Amino acid sequence: MTALRTGAVTDVGRVRTNNEDQMLVTESLFAVADGMGGHAAGEVAALVAVDTLRDEFAGNPTADGLVDATRTANTNVIARAEADVATRGMGTTVCAAALVPNEDGHDTLVIVNVGDSRAYLLRDGELSQITEDHSVADELMRAGQLTEEQAAVDRRRHVLTRVLGDGDMVSPDRFDLDPFRGDRILLATDGLTNEVPDGEIASILRRIEDPGEAARELVRVAKNNGGADNITVILIDVIDDEGKAEEASEALANEPPRPRGLITAAERDSKLRDLDAESRPASANRPSSFDEPTRPRRKLKITIFGLAVLAVIAGAVGAVLFLGRPWYVSADHGRVALFRGHGDGLLKEKLVDRTDIRLRSLDGIAQERVSEGVRFNSRKDAEAYIARLPTTTTSTSTTTSSLLVPTTVAGTATTTVTPTTKK
Ligand code: MN
Repeated sequence: MTALRTGAVTDVGRVRTNNEDQMLVTESLFAVADGMGGHAAGEVAALVAVDTLRDEFAGNPTADGLVDATRTANTNVIARAEADVATRGMGTTVCAAALVPNEDGHDTLVIVNVGDSRAYLLRDGELSQITEDHSVADELMRAGQLTEEQAAVDRRRHVLTRVLGDGDMVSPDRFDLDPFRGDRILLATDGLTNEVPDGEIASILRRIEDPGEAARELVRVAKNNGGADNITVILIDVIDDEGKAEEASEALANEPPRPRGLITAAERDSKLRDLDAESRPASANRPSSFDEPTRPRRKLKITIFGLAVLAVIAGAVGAVLFLGRPWYVSADHGRVALFRGHGDGLLKEKLVDRTDIRLRSLDGIAQERVSEGVRFNSRKDAEAYIARLPTTTTSTSTTTSSLLVPTTVAGTATTTVTPTTKK
C-alpha cells in the first residue's frame, strides 16, 4: 500500500468577500475546484463538482472512474445551472488526484484537470508542473504563437478554454504518475499560482516538511503578495511507496542513495522495516524473476495508455469542432466582428455581430491575428476574446486590479460582450 500524508488549506484571500473555491480531501481522492459565476454561483458550481467527484469515484475508484466522475461533474453542474436561474452560466475548474491500483497491483497516482487549477510534483527537490492550463494564452503558447514569458503576463491567461459547466462534452486531461517515497504533489487554484512564482513555491515545499505547515505557508505568502483571489492548496506527500524507492536505489549498484530530504520518523521506521523484510531469505517456491532487481522508471510519465486516451479525446474534440459550427473573431469593414462558421472554415462564415472596435486600434499582434480570423468553440469564448483584445491605446501590462475587473476598451465594447473571465 502506498501511504500518503496530506495538508490542505482554503482561504478567501484579501480582496474577495466570499470563497468560491472548494476542496476535497479523502483517503485516496483529492481535488481543488475554482468556481466562477456571479452571485455566489461559483461556490455552487465548485461544490457540485467536488461532491460529484467524491460520490462517483467512490462507486468506481479507478483511473477510468476518475475521468468518468469528472465528466459526470460537468453534467451535474450544467443540470444544476439549468434548474436554477440564479446560477445560470456558472462553471468551475477542477484538478483532482487519486491513488488507484494499476494492472500490476501497484498504486498509480492519476491526475485529471479541466481549467487552470494546477498539479505540481516536487521530486528530488525539483518542482515540475504536471498539468497544462486550459486558457487562451496557454493554448496560444502551445501553438507557438506566444512565448512562455508572453503567456505568463498575457491577460488571456484568465480566459479559460475548458471548464466544467460549459458544454455537454468536456475532455479532462489525464496524467499518470508512479508515486515514489519523498514525492510531494501540490494541487492549487490560481489564487496561489498567480501570486507566488514557481521558484518560491518550490523553495517553500523544500523547506517545510510538514504538509499542513507547508500548505499554510503557501497561503500566507500568496496573501502577503496580494491575495487578490481565493487560494486553495492541497499537499500530498508520499511517505511509503511499497519499497519502490528502495529497490530503485539498490538497482543503482554501488551508487549510494541520494539524500531525498523530507524524511520523517515514520519513513525512517518503514525503511528499517523494509530492510528487515529484505534480509529474510526468499521462499523456495518464489518465482526467480522476483529476485531480479527492478529499476522503476523514475521520471514523471504520461503512459502510452494515457496518450492513447488523449489522442482519442483530441480526435473526438476535433470531430465535434469540425462538424459543429465554430465561432470566429475576424474583421468586417475595419471593425472587429463575430462570425458563425458553417463547418467549412472561414470561407462560409456568417456575420453575427460587428463591434465598434477598430481593427487599426488593436496592437500589432492582435491586429494580425484578428485579420487572419481566430476560431472558437463557443460564442462565450469568442466574446471573451474580443473583450480582452489589447489595443494600442490601453496599457497591456497586467496589474493586480486588471485581473479582477474585466477590462474593456472604453466606450467601444458592445453590450453583447460577456467575458467568461474568472471572478
Ligand atoms: Mn481563482
